[in-house]
Amino acid sequence: MDLYVRTLLSAATGFAVLTLASACFPDDTAKAVGVNPTEPGKDWPAWFAQHPQFIADGFDFPVGPPDAAGYYNAQPFGRNLHLGDDWNGKGGGDSDLGDPVYAIAHGYVTRAEDEGGGWGKVVRVVHHFPENGSTRTVESLYAHLDTLMVSEGSWLRRGQQLGTIGNAGGRYPAHLHLEIRDSAGMPLGGGYSHDTRGYLRPTEFIKAHRSR
Ligand SMILES: [Zn+2]
Repeated sequence: MDLYVRTLLSAATGFAVLTLASACFPDDTAKAVGVNPTEPGKDWPAWFAQHPQFIADGFDFPVGPPDAAGYYNAQPFGRNLHLGDDWNGKGGGDSDLGDPVYAIAHGYVTRAEDEGGGWGKVVRVVHHFPENGSTRTVESLYAHLDTLMVSEGSWLRRGQQLGTIGNAGGRYPAHLHLEIRDSAGMPLGGGYSHDTRGYLRPTEFIKAHRSR
């Protein structure tokens, strides 16, 4: 997308004031968070057709891959209106601070930035794969990272490290907030909502699309 279109979209979407709630996004962190469009409207099937080696061949968990060994889901999708899963080290607290976070599948990085507020550093990856005789595009989002190890426009392989587990500048005990969206380029969102349209249950999705 060229800069002009990006600027238009940025102006159109403006800033969303997020009402943040619950443990992962405490109320006191509420602030205006910029919405990044992350290439909406891109022809993802065509883009991946040009890079067929990155068409996803299955999904793994983002920590302790492939099966999240050593970690547990401290706040599953739907609990407290949570729009993702919170992966914590079994040691609790900040015992997992700095642990590696891995791409859940082959894909293309559309965003790798510090989004501020309750988000901290975030990586967003678009995945494309065949399903039921057609193709499907989803996006994974990894939040509260301590370090970013990839940049926008990078291609990733499943299991490639993209960053490390963080605590969003000490706001939370260190954990990975993982979302999976049913399309690419949705607004950043607020991590919690009654409105789950466009959001997938990460653990169920991964289990239904394993790499083996
Ligand atoms: Zn979370």
